Amino acid sequence: MLVQLLIGFILAAIVGLLGWRLGALTRGGAAGAFLIGGAVFGFGGPTWGAILAVFFASSSFFSYFRRQDKVGVAGEFAKSSRRDLGQTLANGGVAALLAIGVGIVTRESPWYPTLTLAYFGALSAATADTWATELGVLSSRPPRLITTGEVVTTGRSGAVSFLGTLASLAGGAFIGISAFILIQMASLLSTGSWFLQDWFLIPLCTLAGLLGSLFDSLLGATWQRMYYCNTCQTITEQTQHECGHPTRSIRGISWLGNDQVNFLTTVVGALSAALVGLLFL
Ligand SMILES: [Zn+2]
Repeated sequence: MLVQLLIGFILAAIVGLLGWRLGALTRGGAAGAFLIGGAVFGFGGPTWGAILAVFFASSSFFSYFRRQDKVGVAGEFAKSSRRDLGQTLANGGVAALLAIGVGIVTRESPWYPTLTLAYFGALSAATADTWATELGVLSSRPPRLITTGEVVTTGRSGAVSFLGTLASLAGGAFIGISAFILIQMASLLSTGSWFLQDWFLIPLCTLAGLLGSLFDSLLGATWQRMYYCNTCQTITEQTQHECGHPTRSIRGISWLGNDQVNFLTTVVGALSAALVGLLFL
């Protein structure tokens, strides 16, 4: 366990530094990636660590994907594509806590399979939500609020589009397929035979990703705190608008910002995968 923890934190340090050098993470984001990656690999092992890497690499890729097109469409959306400490903890915090949980109960525990499914579910939700946000914003048709169906501007929290929903399904499925392939590889290496009974991970992760994203949109349309810029007459998530003027609070729960919503999104992904997964264990 100690050796695995050491390797985990060394690998996480390398990934964090690379992410920072390549502009995918701020310094705080690199520190967050170090803590999360080290805990996930150290306590969860290589398969867990590899799934985290799949999430991180694919999400960073889609943040860069057609970046120029995104800047024009949605001023609101066009924050820096660098993930900071809050964002990395919001997306990976639940995954890291589940890994620590596995470190405490150990792999022999009857809880291990459920904790593993919850872990895959948390990352499915984080991936699905990131893909939906990064690709949905490229939709040629304006999105609608998930609650009222009102057509709103691209990039608004709580807005959904056909393209974004498709992207969220693909994101969850991508984690499920990656997990299935990695488990086959691990099984072939350790026992010399396949472990095909884990096929259900693919639909399960797709479902967890979709439920997480829908929950994220629902909170974004209702209880997430929102501000208003009087100068630009636009709704924003920031206390200081990008035009430089301070904004005023217009609705939502004061502590429920974007990071808190993303954290709860991964909680929903973890719970739905663990609960629905009981049917297959
Ligand atoms: Zn403004």
